[in-house]
Amino acid sequence: MGLLPLEMSSRIRNEAYGEAIDLGLKDCIACGCCAYVCPSKIPLVQYFVHAKGELAAQDRAKLRGDATKKLALQRQERLEREAREKAEANAKRKAEREAAAAAKAAAEAVAKAETQGESA
Ligand code: SF4
Repeated sequence: MGLLPLEMSSRIRNEAYGEAIDLGLKDCIACGCCAYVCPSKIPLVQYFVHAKGELAAQDRAKLRGDATKKLALQRQERLEREAREKAEANAKRKAEREAAAAAKAAAEAVAKAETQGESA
């Protein structure tokens, strides 16, 4: 399908960039032939360049938004992982302390039993 410069410029004036793309905006190479022959001297190429700039800005904003979302998700995952690792380390330390206390109590009980056995 050939390009429709007047239709495209009309859509661009109304900020209907999607419709302009459907009419071939992305196939336009901005050669200026349509503007050159336009009897009404409509600055068609300026419309097309403007629209392409707007679309590029929208694409960049979308990429930036996606990157920000990805970074936020990675941060959330990192915080959750760090909290999980901290809880596991705390639980391990607590278990070690309890085991040490139990061993100490057992040793004291044995020592006390030995002391009582010697005195009897
Ligand atoms: S600028 Fe050139 S390629 Fe673009 S619509 Fe006009 S004639 Fe076609």
